[in-house]
Amino acid sequence: MIVGSRREVLSGMGAGLAIAGLGGGLAAGLRVPPAIAGTRKIGYAVVGLGYYATRQIMPNFAGCEHARLVALVSGTPAKLEQYSAQYGIPPSHRYSYADFDRIRDNPDIDVVYVVLPNSLHAEYTVRAARAGKHVMCEKPMATSVAECQAMIAACRKAGTKLMIGYRSRFEPYNRLAIELARGGHVGPTRLVAAEHGFPIQPNQWRLDRAMSGGGSMMDIGIYSLNAARYLTGEEPVEVSAVESTDRSDPRFRQVEDRVSFVLRFPSGIQATCISSYSSAHNGYRVTGTQGWIALEPATSYSGQVMTINKGGTTASRVLPPPARNQFAAQLDHLAECILTGTTPIVGGEEGLQDMRIIEAIYRAMAERRHVVLTELG
Ligand code: NAD
Repeated sequence: MIVGSRREVLSGMGAGLAIAGLGGGLAAGLRVPPAIAGTRKIGYAVVGLGYYATRQIMPNFAGCEHARLVALVSGTPAKLEQYSAQYGIPPSHRYSYADFDRIRDNPDIDVVYVVLPNSLHAEYTVRAARAGKHVMCEKPMATSVAECQAMIAACRKAGTKLMIGYRSRFEPYNRLAIELARGGHVGPTRLVAAEHGFPIQPNQWRLDRAMSGGGSMMDIGIYSLNAARYLTGEEPVEVSAVESTDRSDPRFRQVEDRVSFVLRFPSGIQATCISSYSSAHNGYRVTGTQGWIALEPATSYSGQVMTINKGGTTASRVLPPPARNQFAAQLDHLAECILTGTTPIVGGEEGLQDMRIIEAIYRAMAERRHVVLTELG
């Protein structure tokens, strides 16, 4: 997708200085407010000890300034035992799904982090809110607009915060891309192209519609959609979409494989996006009137590569390593919002908006027509 004609790699201090003027505003938004330096750490209970929780989230509490892991919830006693031993979680802070609601009585737990299959996000978010806990919920927020609305309502009623795990919003290259694109670094944006996909392994809950709520769009295509929204800072007014799914492939009996969708934004910006469960993609390009900004990979766990074309020159941008990686910064962000009484930059409304647009994409696919977002109410 992205080919640089000439690569001029900036590195080390030079790169830091080179981007300081460009990345300062958004980067400042993630700096720890001095007022909460040294205050207590916010305690998280992680619910669901699967791949993402155990391999990506739990190890990254070590890099947090304001968040710590204090409790675990799992239906598998052996996993509870293993990870509790690894992270020093005492028996009093280990829960099964059946006794999950007892978290209400544990003052060490401030936040419940829901890292379960998509169909369980709403139930555990609502139960956590009823127990008086703040919630971090993985993407996709839920499997329908109605579930998202119920989650927002439950947290609002309980007076607790709700944040969705859009980790790329805490990743430095994505933050710089947002600032450059919205700031007109390559002129006003005309087009965004975003591609996300991977060849999915068979026999897993992601391929069971009741558990996932849908196919590639729910899981990986949501990165293309969310990037189109955060890079433009606008909300689409119209979508069109084309699906291509081989229903004889046992993986795709219930859910969609490839989706190409187009979003039209109020300013006239178009986003052409790809979502795939049978091919590997991870990147986006923002094209303005004077050049383009590309990130590939864009939303990976690490290894982002940024390339910018401007004034006839194509060059790479290399940022210095961040003090906190995207996972730690995401965990800390909700903690900092709790400590300072502020609102997460990716709250429930952000997850709800993606779900609204995904429902519109599914409708456009099914009915083979353009769908105007206001049609959906
Ligand atoms: P996973 O299958 O590895 O883990 C899911 C966990 O839920 C397992 O421990 C499983 O035992 C448990 N579980 C509880 N009840 C279950 C039930 N009824 N059926 C199946 N499993 C049940 O999945 P994962 O990859 O860790 O994904 C979990 C969530 O995290 C998903 O919503 C996914 O979209 C999200 N995720 C986000 C990212 C990201 O980068 N933000 C990456 C991967 C996954």
